[in-house]
Amino acid sequence: MTNQKLSTKNFIILVLLAYLFSLSVRTIWVYQFHDVEQFRWNNQLMINTNDGYGYAEGARDILNGGHQKGDGSFIDSSLAIVTAFLAKILPFSFETIILWMPTFFGSLLVIPIMLMARVLSMEYVGFIGALLGGIAWSYYNRTMTGYYDTDMLTIVLPSLTLWSIMFAMIEKRNRYILLVSFFMVLSNWWYFQNYSLSLSMAGVVLIYTLIFDRKNIFNYKILIFMLLALSQIDLSIKIVLILALFGFFHIKQDLESKVIYAILAISVLLILITGGLDPIINRVNGYLFRDSSNIANEAGLHYYSVVKTVREAGEIPFQVFANRISGGRVALILSIIGYLLLLFKHRIFLLSLPLVGLGFIALWGGLRFTVYAVPILALSIGYLIMYLSTFIEKKELRLGFIAISTIAILIPNIEHIVGYKVPTVFNKQTVEVLDKLKKLASREDYVVAWWDYGYPIRYYSDVKTLIDGARHSGSANYSVSFALLHNQRAGANIARLDVEYKERALKDSNFTAGTVLERGMKEYGIKNVNEFIASLNSPIKLPKKTRDIYFYLPLKMMNILPTIDLFANLNLLTGKKYKSPLFSRANVISTQGNIFHLNNGMQIIGGNIKSGNNIIPINQFVVTEYDNKGILHKRVRHLNVGSNIFVIYMRNYNQFLILDKRIFNSTYIQLFVLENYDPELFEPTILTPFTKVFKLKV
Ligand code: MN
Repeated sequence: MTNQKLSTKNFIILVLLAYLFSLSVRTIWVYQFHDVEQFRWNNQLMINTNDGYGYAEGARDILNGGHQKGDGSFIDSSLAIVTAFLAKILPFSFETIILWMPTFFGSLLVIPIMLMARVLSMEYVGFIGALLGGIAWSYYNRTMTGYYDTDMLTIVLPSLTLWSIMFAMIEKRNRYILLVSFFMVLSNWWYFQNYSLSLSMAGVVLIYTLIFDRKNIFNYKILIFMLLALSQIDLSIKIVLILALFGFFHIKQDLESKVIYAILAISVLLILITGGLDPIINRVNGYLFRDSSNIANEAGLHYYSVVKTVREAGEIPFQVFANRISGGRVALILSIIGYLLLLFKHRIFLLSLPLVGLGFIALWGGLRFTVYAVPILALSIGYLIMYLSTFIEKKELRLGFIAISTIAILIPNIEHIVGYKVPTVFNKQTVEVLDKLKKLASREDYVVAWWDYGYPIRYYSDVKTLIDGARHSGSANYSVSFALLHNQRAGANIARLDVEYKERALKDSNFTAGTVLERGMKEYGIKNVNEFIASLNSPIKLPKKTRDIYFYLPLKMMNILPTIDLFANLNLLTGKKYKSPLFSRANVISTQGNIFHLNNGMQIIGGNIKSGNNIIPINQFVVTEYDNKGILHKRVRHLNVGSNIFVIYMRNYNQFLILDKRIFNSTYIQLFVLENYDPELFEPTILTPFTKVFKLKV
């Protein structure tokens, strides 16, 4: 293909068109949900990603001028800083800004795609690539409206870095080298995990130069500025260093190559000395030695290993992989053919190998990597379409072919988007509860809740939490799992201990909290961890209460109750799981007199459960029902005191819970389902059928 470079004006028009297309597609979700009252708060749709609330908390804290020690606020994160800045200068509400930021930032991907194509004067190739890349399946999923997360620029910035390298290499003008440093620094500031990608880009530039352009001093200069940008030194020093060297190169245009090599060697040393390879070494170690057994910590305790519950880390089938990169298997194969052709015809695109390669790591490393391959493979399919079109002589036919093929590759992606009806993280009733709690609790108070709810609770209630999306290791989760799914006394004790130890450790550097169990064993002089855990079942002398603690108990938690239980239902000395608890939910299919037929095949007959041929006696049979005002009423029938099986019939949901004694007596079931709180330990703060909050009295 021989093309003439498009005029700047026409190029900008094309970029704007692609950007507008990408924006418009991202309004489909808003159009589908904007009047769903459940999904709205503060006159705006809420966001649909959990982690987003972590950044939203950070941005809010920046705007408020501070945060609480140890609260885990992302006040220093790039996304929070940019958000706070936008919230200050734009006339929109905070909710509106976080909802729409991914739309506007994520769509920027069309720019590097089109710029890369323009380097080779193939703007129409870029245009097709930008239409696809901006909305391709996995890229859309992670940059859709409401997906408020760092993803919105995580691919855009490395793509701009790649473009700046290609651009500088082809134009061979000193001034463009600064762009390379600029985008690299920005890319790593935005998302530090991009560091390994940036470093491998530098590696590829070196190899590329050694093979194809060994004598080209200019490429070594580019490499120097890449390495300086990557060195792990203070940002202000880095900027001064880069500008100084740039000035030096500018004044001394005809430096001997020896000098350049020497500076390059120094830059390499700078990377090595400042530990520039550590992030990569750590990452490789993390993957190679990702052990799923419950490894003992320093204190010899075997906590549950979280890796087991993380779904994302794992191999994915080819169909899913293809869908997520290109929208389908055929499209992916065509884009790979296009990519190979592109590499063959324009070897400068070899520089894109790290970006594409990282996308292919998804085949082993899990879904989250696919997005990296999107921009280049989208460009590649554009290249293939334009390349094939050159074989069609007649102009009308040629244009028709281009238009139809472009639409054909877009359609599966748009179909996916129309069907991708992601709900918001929380619904309105839940947020109302958290908003009420915000008015009752102080910013130093704690809320005990499962880690999934950590960020949103901190955002809406402005409190502290024990665990969240960033802090949910097996040992961190232990106390919350234990507090929710063991008896109220044990739950109250461990919550108070964990909070007070954590806070003391923040103030007193000689007091290392360790895990709550390790610290507790020291404080109470108990050597055996199981003995210490058992001691929590009775009243103990607790440390001085410095703040309030609330238990947050949502109905939704019922879905993940068995997972939550894994974290504290094991022998910490050996890592061996205890027997799985009985926790079963079943809906009523039909009733005949006092016989309930359940959808799990069981029947409730009088005081017994019939499962297959077994008849099991029931200890207690409880019927719960909310009246019109949302007040809970319950009827308890004590049947067979010797039985370990308890049954709760939640009439409003037409649902049965079948539980063993421990789960029945657990804080969650007693407080949330039955409102049977021990008045010595808890007092109700907010009670709704969907979410309940209790305050700890000890
Ligand atoms: Mn805070």
